[in-house]
Amino acid sequence: MQKEFAQSDITPITPDARMSAEVHGGRAKCLQRLIRLEMPVPQTVALSFHAVRRIAAGTPPDVTEILRHFGPTPLLSVRPSSQDPDWGGPGAILNVGICDTLHATLCDEIGERAATSLYLRFIQAYATHVARLDDDLFEVPEDPTHETLAVALRTYEEEAEEPFPQEVERQLGDILGSMARAWEGTSARLLRKAKGAPEGAGLGLVVQQLALGVGQGACGSGVIQFVNPATGERQVTGRYLSQSQGREALEDPAGAVYLTRDPRGPSLQDEYPQVFAELLEMGERARTRLREEMQIEFTLDGGRLSVLDAVRVHRASRAKVRIAVELAQDGIISREDAVMRVDPAALSELLHRQVALDAERDRIANGIAASPGAASGRIVFTANDAQASAARGEDCVLVRRETSPEDIRGMHAAAAVLTVRGGVTSHAAVIGRGLGLPCVVGASDLLIDRKAKRLTAPDGRVFREGDVITVDGTTGDVLAGQPAMLEASLDGAFRTLLQWADAVRDIGVRANADTPADAQTARNFEAEGIGLCRTEHMFFEGERLSVMREMIFADKGEDRAAVLERLLPMQRADFADLFSIMGGYPVCIRLFDPPLHEFLPSDKAGIRELANVLDRPLSEVTARIEALEEYNPMLGMRGVRLGVTVPEIYEMQARAIFEAAILSKMSGARVVPEIMIPLVSAMREVELVKNRIDAVAVNVHNETGADLEYRLGVMVETPRAALRAGDIAQHSAFLSFGTNDLTQMTYGLSRDDAGRFMSAYVQQKVYAEDPFHTLDLDGVGELLSMGAERARASEPGIVLSICGEHGGSRSAIEFSRQHGLDYVSCSPFRVPIARLSAAQLAL
Ligand code: PEP
Ligand code: MG
Repeated sequence: MQKEFAQSDITPITPDARMSAEVHGGRAKCLQRLIRLEMPVPQTVALSFHAVRRIAAGTPPDVTEILRHFGPTPLLSVRPSSQDPDWGGPGAILNVGICDTLHATLCDEIGERAATSLYLRFIQAYATHVARLDDDLFEVPEDPTHETLAVALRTYEEEAEEPFPQEVERQLGDILGSMARAWEGTSARLLRKAKGAPEGAGLGLVVQQLALGVGQGACGSGVIQFVNPATGERQVTGRYLSQSQGREALEDPAGAVYLTRDPRGPSLQDEYPQVFAELLEMGERARTRLREEMQIEFTLDGGRLSVLDAVRVHRASRAKVRIAVELAQDGIISREDAVMRVDPAALSELLHRQVALDAERDRIANGIAASPGAASGRIVFTANDAQASAARGEDCVLVRRETSPEDIRGMHAAAAVLTVRGGVTSHAAVIGRGLGLPCVVGASDLLIDRKAKRLTAPDGRVFREGDVITVDGTTGDVLAGQPAMLEASLDGAFRTLLQWADAVRDIGVRANADTPADAQTARNFEAEGIGLCRTEHMFFEGERLSVMREMIFADKGEDRAAVLERLLPMQRADFADLFSIMGGYPVCIRLFDPPLHEFLPSDKAGIRELANVLDRPLSEVTARIEALEEYNPMLGMRGVRLGVTVPEIYEMQARAIFEAAILSKMSGARVVPEIMIPLVSAMREVELVKNRIDAVAVNVHNETGADLEYRLGVMVETPRAALRAGDIAQHSAFLSFGTNDLTQMTYGLSRDDAGRFMSAYVQQKVYAEDPFHTLDLDGVGELLSMGAERARASEPGIVLSICGEHGGSRSAIEFSRQHGLDYVSCSPFRVPIARLSAAQLAL
């Protein structure tokens, strides 16, 4: 017959015992390390995951075997030991083993009040966890008496219909059983899953000889750590509470004292300098030998120090970075270890303001967290109102059903953006990330009434223009009012960590940047160039929109040329700015991409205003707008299709790029502009555009005498371009995969509308994740790898990259490395995250 418990199931923790976090849990393993460091840890026995699983399934624990390792009348504690301490577990239970006889002995040893208090606490724990009685029946008063104890024992007997168990075997067996079952409960499962635990995560338990912490002389317990958990700065923090057990010092700060000398009151350092010094030395030993910042739980018993437990200091993201960097600077871990220790996603918290962790969150609704960071402001419903608000110096939140290019100026002016529709690659989301503007999209539970300027929350609350709300783009929450915020920080430790990351990274990281401000952010975050500059955004700025509209309305070629002539200097200045900010790093400029009608007004008032500006009849303007309308604009007259049919726009842009490059060269910068053609699906499109751009280059050269060097490339964002990458590569110096459109077209899924049903699709596991958010490696990935392979087969030296919104994500970077791509390009604010992810993947 199979033995109920294997040999490794019940293991006294000694320096040489065979133990691991995967078998006995992180706490058991950590206690063994502390013992190896010769710290005064009381006798402890570990129960393995296997043992605890069997106990939960109904096999009684082998308490005789456990108790064999303790004295004749032991007083014990039982604590959880899950593989990763962050996954939690049932709370610790102290004073197991106390009974009438032991109570009488303890009354003599430590005094009646202390002894009774211990007994009462155990009765309360046992009654609630094992007998499942209400815990308020067993409250432990400050000054318990013999009578209080008698009442508690009587109450227990009445409620549980049996006397309170007196045998340590029974008590321990029941406690182990209740803790084992608690781990299997539904809420515990959900909770640990939310913290990242896998489905079958196990629980170990540790049974430890209790260090009393109450009694005669210097008795008490405390918790000490050696760094500030918010900043990571080295600093002793914690509390000590005399005549207490476990973590009571933290739970009852009123009675607790500080550890270091403190003007606010007494401290452990003053009262027990010897103990304090010992703790400091232990902290240093733990830091150097365990290679971590640890929080130590300790007890004083008649002046004797015991270490009961130690856990990794729970820390904010900012502290995570600083701790890792300082451990490496002190030679305790390697630089590579430091790089591996910081979760790249945690960096985004450092790049943006956040709602403070302890702030009250009055949640109105929840949508898709589209651009991280949080900001508060007064609600406005139009881009114009956002600009007016900014002009008054008032922070505002732009609330729209969805945004369109016309809203860009409003977005620039707003502190945050909230939309009711759209997904992670919707216009609001892309622009929000580019601007580093907190943004929540697809908050579909909110009802927006633009006319009445009203926003109605699902709970019926109504918010009007001018009311203050907060958009938390990190969590997707929309909050009422203005909670406390935590400022962004780019401290020295953060920069150091990223420099170490760059030293091991083997794939380039560029930024998607459309404006000089974006480019500046990209440089601040040390991007190695611009991988995608979406030039159309430049045409929505100020007076350019009107010029652009004039161009669209021009009937004859020469009229169009005249208008483009006015746009030329503006574009030239844009590009010269970008080149100068990027200081010699490559700048990849994508030629005009969107359908023209996006530049035209859609409402009556706007059309009337346009008719006025153009000095044309309203009917003519309306007819022209209708003529430009398409059933399926994203698959219509846009990208290179405009380049082929209205070539003057691309010619003007190419000239602006060349002239800007010449200007920048005159001021000493080395500029080799990259020009990229969007939405290509056939080689001939590239040939046609290339011929025209080459001709512009020749003209500019003839006019100026300047040597022109430039590189022409293609955006691979239609499935056909990926399939025909071999042909297309022949005319291209580089190919950049536009995974937004490529995802849209591979799935046949509108990037602007999919938000409406995406959550249902993900919930029902039709898609594992939103493919606009997480690159679909199976489908879109196959097109990418095919495209990369075919391009390389035809042009071995061709430069390949990804520039869709996926570019900064870990999975896209991993994929890009595997397929030998040269760089990824992502929103400027994701550049640091991408640098760190890329380094971790290379290690
Ligand atoms: C893309 O399609 O992936 C892309 C980068 O271009 P845009 O998002 O501007 O369509
Ligand atoms: Mg695209």
